[in-house]
Amino acid sequence: MAYFDNAATSFIKPPGVLACVQEAMLTMTSIGRGGYRQADLAAKAVYECRELAGLLFGAEPEQVVFTMNATHALNLAIRSLVKPGGRVVISGFEHNAVVRPLHALKAKITVAGKKLYDRENLLSAFDRAIRPGVDAVVCTQVSNVFGWRLPVEEIGALCRERGVPFVVDCAQSAGCVPVTLRTCGADFLAMPGHKGLYGPQGTGILICGRRPDPLIFGGTGSLAMLPDMPQELPDRVEAGTHNVPGICGLSAGLRFILEKTPEAIGAHEAELARYFSSGLRTEGKYRIFFDSDQTGVVSVQHRDLDCEMLAACLAARDIAVRAGLHCAPLAHRSAGTLDTGTVRISFSFFHTREDVAELVHTLRTI
Ligand code: PMP
Repeated sequence: MAYFDNAATSFIKPPGVLACVQEAMLTMTSIGRGGYRQADLAAKAVYECRELAGLLFGAEPEQVVFTMNATHALNLAIRSLVKPGGRVVISGFEHNAVVRPLHALKAKITVAGKKLYDRENLLSAFDRAIRPGVDAVVCTQVSNVFGWRLPVEEIGALCRERGVPFVVDCAQSAGCVPVTLRTCGADFLAMPGHKGLYGPQGTGILICGRRPDPLIFGGTGSLAMLPDMPQELPDRVEAGTHNVPGICGLSAGLRFILEKTPEAIGAHEAELARYFSSGLRTEGKYRIFFDSDQTGVVSVQHRDLDCEMLAACLAARDIAVRAGLHCAPLAHRSAGTLDTGTVRISFSFFHTREDVAELVHTLRTI
């Protein structure tokens, strides 16, 4: 099977991920739950994962909070900053993992920057919208539909200047675009473990530049006499038993990224996207969404087939892509593709130019 849905979940994982998951299941129990060997091994392994993530994202190990996925991390960040009915500024390219938590809080949302690939328009819209009194700015670093890299560093600088907290959704950037709390001027970086960090499903990370409030309450293995959650991170927001095998797999993914570097991974994926776009461009029946400032995520539309049909044709040829709205109706509305959706093709570090050439060839025959 040819898998081109890495923006949803990476499928081919680096060597070591599976072995680390298996080793955790064979040798470890849970952290903070006992003084015996299996619990010690788990505690050491989980702490090592915090160290690796801290190294990659410019944080201390204690600032690394484990979550179930990016949605969980975003909910933690948003619930910590936005009051019910509060004011929030977001880009026109946000995922429902941002929009729905804000909607649930009945937040007053200003959508800044609705023109795909127009960096200046986006920045001036954020410049107008970020005012004192705004509870938070939330922005994705890379659009999950179009692969467009948004200028989060500049948006972060505006937030700092005006004293407004900033949350970056790194779901599509973590692992393939360099990002730290400092470079983004961010209060929180939210990300999944199962996409560009190559961890197993059910893992995610919130990098905390400030102390978040708990979403759920329960045991932490620390300060058990307290009826409240502890004040200290990460315990404050990590109630309940950890996904130790998932976190150990995530460590192997993080080690791979630290060795290859996000710059090199991102450059390879972006080059594949460029190769794909230029290869398919000569085939008149496709509309391709591509810009110079793009990662390895590309949306396409077929002149005669709707997106579900095109994805079904590809699935029949054992090629996995994602059709529809990609949980991001706001991004599709901004790009004018809300009625039709698109077919999203997302490349991985493990793809070669030959894989891409084969995909282009298949698309030409449809
Ligand atoms: N934000 C963006 C930009 C995403 O692409 C995704 C995943 N599609 C999410 C948030 C949510 O990630 P998760 O599925 O890990 O909760």
